[in-house]
Amino acid sequence: MPPPAPRPSSKPTGLDCRLAVLGADVRLTPHRREVFDVLAGSTDHPTAYEILDRVKSRSPGISLATVYNCLDHLTTAGLIKQVQLERGQSRYCANLHEHVHFHCDVCGKLIDAHPAADFEVTKFWSLPRGTNITRMDLVIRGTCEACAAK
Ligand SMILES: [Zn+2]
Ligand SMILES: [Zn+2]
Repeated sequence: MPPPAPRPSSKPTGLDCRLAVLGADVRLTPHRREVFDVLAGSTDHPTAYEILDRVKSRSPGISLATVYNCLDHLTTAGLIKQVQLERGQSRYCANLHEHVHFHCDVCGKLIDAHPAADFEVTKFWSLPRGTNITRMDLVIRGTCEACAAK
């Protein structure tokens, strides 16, 4: 099935829609909801520390351990993506449209890149026979426009 047409400017759909689409059996505590809302409202792929900072104003007293716990849960449930770069902490993404990430090696910015055309992973890369793909974490590296202009 082809991925949905990329709509880079569209906001992620609400959590409830997403849950309905996934038919996910996820128990959402108020903290998990807050953490999701903060992430869905961010486009800069924050780290757990940055999410803690943003969620604190809504949930005073929330701890970093709780934030990590919520992020783990939301990632496992497929509601958000965890982006692991070799150096530094994981970053998180609530954009669940088909996309990969572009990482600027100069300023560290992480940008969503949506497919420009219908994209079929197994036609692009030769994977071993019988491989079953569950998700794709791909980071393309280089220099962003602002850094390249310097
Ligand atoms: Zn992303
Ligand atoms: Zn840059």
